[in-house]
Amino acid sequence: MPFLTQLADVARRTGSPVTEVAGWRTRGHGPQPEVQGVVCHHTAGPAGGGDYPSLAVVRDGRPGLDGPLSHFGLGRSGRIYVIAAGRCWHNAPSTSPWHDNSSSLGIEAENNGTQPWPAAQRESYVRLCAELCREFKLPASRVKAHREVNTAKPDPHSIDMNDFRASVAAIIKAGPGAFWTEELVRNLPVIRLGDDNYDVKTVRGCLFARGHVPPAAYADLPGGLRAWLESTVADEGLMALVSAFQQARGLGADGVVGPETWPPLLRV
Ligand SMILES: [Zn+2]
Repeated sequence: MPFLTQLADVARRTGSPVTEVAGWRTRGHGPQPEVQGVVCHHTAGPAGGGDYPSLAVVRDGRPGLDGPLSHFGLGRSGRIYVIAAGRCWHNAPSTSPWHDNSSSLGIEAENNGTQPWPAAQRESYVRLCAELCREFKLPASRVKAHREVNTAKPDPHSIDMNDFRASVAAIIKAGPGAFWTEELVRNLPVIRLGDDNYDVKTVRGCLFARGHVPPAAYADLPGGLRAWLESTVADEGLMALVSAFQQARGLGADGVVGPETWPPLLRV
């Protein structure tokens, strides 16, 4: 099995916001030999510090253990961080042949080890496991807590794994695309002038796909259309196109991509 460069696409199928951490496609302790299971962890990171303060540790490792430590990070908001496509040091020694480092994918969810799990994070956790099972043709029973496959570990704390696996199984049974709902679209982040994040690229791609990006918008860019589509910055040029799109659809032309603008942007 090669580096698993499909992991970001798999993550996006959850409907959760996704951050591709720079360099993830070639990050790993060699390629991932196989995927027979999924192991759920908590980071035991700080109690505060934002959405995913453990990113640097999971990506780069800690004294005595080189990174990457897991394929995915899961923020408190439910945002999925795609960190590595190759093998990660997340479970050794394993009591299960399907859940050692060479055979399984790791998810490190931000939690200090005692604090309650936010509903959005827990929901995203289940969905990510379900999409991974679907991608690698695994039953929900192959999703394990770290503590179930390593006797020395306590994580992830307080999650009833039988309950968790039942939720995963229900999603697998519901079929692909079960979460591409209006509610999810409406809950996408609001994009304003000056924002700089991955969701801005989605706005650019959708505007282009809907025919709302005239060649003049990128004619003067050294990288042309490709560079324009790749930019994560919500600059004035982009937001003017958003306003024009809103006007064309009879929406309030406020130049902000919010709950009224995302649905027509994302639908044909
Ligand atoms: Zn763990």
